[in-house]
Amino acid sequence: MRSNALKEEMAGRVGAAAALWLPGELMARHTSLGIGGPADVIEIRDAFCLPELVAILREYGIPWRIMGGGTNLLVADEGLEGVVLHLARTWKALEFQSNRVEVPASQNLGTAVMECAKRNLGGMEGLIGVPGSVGGALRMNAGAYGTQIGDAVRSLTVFRGAVGRVETLQTSEMRFEYRHTSFAPDDIMLSALLELPERPYTDILERVKQCNQRRRASQPVNEKSAGCIFKNPPGYSAGKLIDELGLKGTRVGGAVVSERHANFVVNRFQASASDILKLIELIRERVLRACGVELEEEVIIWRDIAKLQ
Ligand SMILES: Cc1cc2nc3c(=O)[nH]c(=O)nc-3n(C[C@H](O)[C@H](O)[C@H](O)COP(=O)(O)OP(=O)(O)OC[C@H]3O[C@@H](n4cnc5c(N)ncnc54)[C@H](O)[C@@H]3O)c2cc1C
Repeated sequence: MRSNALKEEMAGRVGAAAALWLPGELMARHTSLGIGGPADVIEIRDAFCLPELVAILREYGIPWRIMGGGTNLLVADEGLEGVVLHLARTWKALEFQSNRVEVPASQNLGTAVMECAKRNLGGMEGLIGVPGSVGGALRMNAGAYGTQIGDAVRSLTVFRGAVGRVETLQTSEMRFEYRHTSFAPDDIMLSALLELPERPYTDILERVKQCNQRRRASQPVNEKSAGCIFKNPPGYSAGKLIDELGLKGTRVGGAVVSERHANFVVNRFQASASDILKLIELIRERVLRACGVELEEEVIIWRDIAKLQ
């Protein structure tokens, strides 16, 4: 009932071409873990509609979240209240100007790295194997092999849910830390201006190749996961702590601690979100008891709209 009214309101005020209503999408189909119950998804095809769309959601009292590529998400088996917004891949292209590039948040991160490489712009090679969107990478300050996306950001265009308008922020107005940024939960990244060092294409390709080899050798890239499940605590490697306790191969239901990388929990046997959560708790307790170190999740858990991060 509410769905129909919302759909009609959206069509009238936003236009079906700008935002596509996809009710009851199985989130397992949208997450790299392959886990998650149903949710109503709105695919944003034109980000200019966001102020009006979010105003409608507010009028209807419907909470919302923003999803990128779903590669760092653990979604509840019961599904989600409210709606999940998703920026369609195609709404904007990369725009180059000298050694600066405006990258849309909807763009796949790996594609963006390679498009920059073709223009002899490097510095992001370490991010090549990080799956997901540029928006998700900006929110998480994704990083690997000595590179963090936040270091390259010069300005960022963001829809601010709190005030309902689009703003462009300068570096002094944002903070990128280890897998943490200063943005509010209802900030939606729309695009980022990156400044990248000029390097010959062949050098960038060589470094990309090295990073890919390192990743393939050390991570379960062919299994369903959300990447590292825990952040590295200051001064420690979470993977090393878990490995030293002999927890590789530990299984709860369909969820297993990867034998290849102890900080990866993989969905090997049709795991539920609850299996993954139980395994996370088991690891956390064992590490706390044995090492006195409290592990904090890197994976974002979506289970209760009241606990949006
Ligand atoms: C095999 C594998 C390897 C990985 N390796 C790495 C690694 O080396 N380094 C690393 O940092 N991560 C790694 N990850 C984790 C993940 O890929 C990154 O965190 C990635 O940047 C998440 O992007 P996403 O688009 O999938 O975001 P999602 O998973 O969709 O969302 C993650 C968070 O970002 C928010 N978000 C998404 N889009 C936007 C937007 N447009 N505006 C505002 N907020 C947004 C979401 O609300 C959520 O809070 C790995 C994951 C996998 C599966």
